[in-house]
Amino acid sequence: MSKIKALRGMKDLLPDEIWKWQLVENSIKKIMQAYAYKEIRTPLLESTKLFARSIGDSTDIVNKEMYTFLDKGEDFISLRPEGTAGVARAVIEHNLTYKGAQKLFYLANMFRYERPQKGRYRQFYQFGVEVLGLDSPAFDAEIIFLSRKLWQDLNIENDLKLELNTLGSSAERANFRLALKDYLSKYENELDADSKARLTTNPLRILDSKDAKTQEILTQAPVLFDFLGANSRADFDHLCEILQLSGVEFVLNTKLVRGLDYYNKSVFEWTTDKLGSQNAILGGGRYDGLLELLGGKPTPAVGFAMGIERLILLLETLDKFKAQAGKKVILLADENFSAQALNLAESLRSSSSAYSLDLILGGSIRSQLKKADKLGADAVLIYAEQEVAKKVVLCKFLRKNIEQVSLNLNDIENYLTQNFGD
Ligand code: AMP
Repeated sequence: MSKIKALRGMKDLLPDEIWKWQLVENSIKKIMQAYAYKEIRTPLLESTKLFARSIGDSTDIVNKEMYTFLDKGEDFISLRPEGTAGVARAVIEHNLTYKGAQKLFYLANMFRYERPQKGRYRQFYQFGVEVLGLDSPAFDAEIIFLSRKLWQDLNIENDLKLELNTLGSSAERANFRLALKDYLSKYENELDADSKARLTTNPLRILDSKDAKTQEILTQAPVLFDFLGANSRADFDHLCEILQLSGVEFVLNTKLVRGLDYYNKSVFEWTTDKLGSQNAILGGGRYDGLLELLGGKPTPAVGFAMGIERLILLLETLDKFKAQAGKKVILLADENFSAQALNLAESLRSSSSAYSLDLILGGSIRSQLKKADKLGADAVLIYAEQEVAKKVVLCKFLRKNIEQVSLNLNDIENYLTQNFGD
């Protein structure tokens, strides 16, 4: 019979790599706790209308990339392509901002029918934060700070660059859109095919076209910054000032528009030059109009989403996991002394210790050592008949040049911790 494989662009996360995910997730949860953000979990499926209305009918995500089905009740439903729309719906539905501002985060899988490539999948995971009910640019800064904290925690702060822009209010943007469209219409036949189509649907997206000719035409195009009113300028200046005061370096990228319609005012991306074309690790911005658009009360909001696969790819590329890999110790014991072996294993296992402890029972020492090596053990504790009688173990490191030693049972913990510490 032919084997059934996973769908294209959908990856299994296998036992040997999941620790990297857990490491990143633990770091995220620790930071969320420190900043007092609470987790929210919303359904994987939502009404298609929710995404069409919030992300925008003319965006690629809604137009081309959504997994949409007609369910048995003849309603159109979609797998979520991003997290903000679902969170906004839940906040409105449960009137969460009634009690005051909300600072939320999610860790969740998203689905987009894109052409799979390195760093781009059809099912992927995002970590996102959403701050609802606060309009000060101070909170735009706060979420940028907490993303920086994550880079610091993972030791990649110097490998990411913060790009910042402001899109102004929707009225300011509408004026700019008209001016941009006017300008680009003169060059309609010279634009790349995608940009040509966007001229009528979503002219702002033309700004981040990758086509060289289109980019050349754009050098003389009107600039959004010139269309900003006093309020938008003041908010943006305030944000820049806070970032500067706290030593967050950024570059102004006036072409940064982001692919989703609901953004206004500040938008930002953390990018890297280490991953080729999929260079955006995290993107976000303000979306003050979204909750009202979805039938809620006017509620200022700001948030971001980060792709976990891309972050892990970056950490792998930079070889940052090596130092963090957990240590593994395997106890090699005789079947006849399984009671003593399990007893020893129990006394060595504690959630705070510097290693995990596995057990191999039975077989010759030679075959046990081979198995332990295959399982990736860093060290083994040999506990055969003689050792049980003498109440000692032989400790042998498999990946370090350290002499095998005989240890009293009480000394094992210290000895291992010391030697893993280097
Ligand atoms: P977006 O929701 O499009 O603003 O994307 C936010 C972040 O999610 C990006 O910066 C990526 O890190 C990640 N991301 C978006 N689309 C994909 C995808 N198809 N596969 C993997 N990661 C993605």
